[in-house]
Amino acid sequence: MPSAAFIELERVSKIYHRADGPVRALDDVSLKIAQGEFVVVRGPSGSGKSTLLMLVGGLGRPTHGRVIVGGKEVSSATAAELAEYRATTIGFVFQMFHLMPYLTVLENVLAAMPCSQAATARQRAAHLLEQCGLAERLKHYPAELSAGERQRVAIARAMINNPQLILADEPTGNLDQPSGEEVLKLLAEFNRAGGTVLLVTHQQWAADFADRTVRLEAGRIVDA
Ligand code: ADP
Repeated sequence: MPSAAFIELERVSKIYHRADGPVRALDDVSLKIAQGEFVVVRGPSGSGKSTLLMLVGGLGRPTHGRVIVGGKEVSSATAAELAEYRATTIGFVFQMFHLMPYLTVLENVLAAMPCSQAATARQRAAHLLEQCGLAERLKHYPAELSAGERQRVAIARAMINNPQLILADEPTGNLDQPSGEEVLKLLAEFNRAGGTVLLVTHQQWAADFADRTVRLEAGRIVDA
């Protein structure tokens, strides 16, 4: 019977093999997230939050279990299918922004587009950056921006290909609360328009933006 969940983890474990022995980053985790949910993932450092995001984003494969997103099994997809999945379904936002320093704000967003040469691409990227409050910053380089502005560029980049899901790993970890709230408001707008958000944070004010909290401890869900 098909599942109504948009994201489904079925008994997922991820074991990393390190020189000092195996590490069970996720331990038999099952979780369902519906389309249009805004879910925050919390837990102590090392509890498996980033690993969970990475597996949902197709940036790695589980050691055991299945990850299904939008009815497709991400955990058994080929490398080409994963590349397509990441480009069309997912937007990623990271704590350290990961903008390209030698590209302008507009070029950073264009660089994420498969058809960045299309006549409409610049217009679309500029429009999205305006919606993110960056109309005056299109020709600036990341080094000329505040941390909050850089993260809003990263949000525009994450949204440029109309993803269904945004995965954000501590996106406000390097921001003060007012700048962080500007970033989270953009994620909340994406969510109101029907997008699904999975947000890792340790900040309570950031977690307050979500509908639901999933709590991890030592690779296991202790509260969902
Ligand atoms: P969190 O995001 O909650 O801090 P992580 O998912 O980053 O947790 O890490 C969970 C555990 O897996 C930690 O013990 C971490 O050291 C380990 N780990 C994460 N990534 C790797 C990796 N690429 N290689 C080896 N161990 C890793």
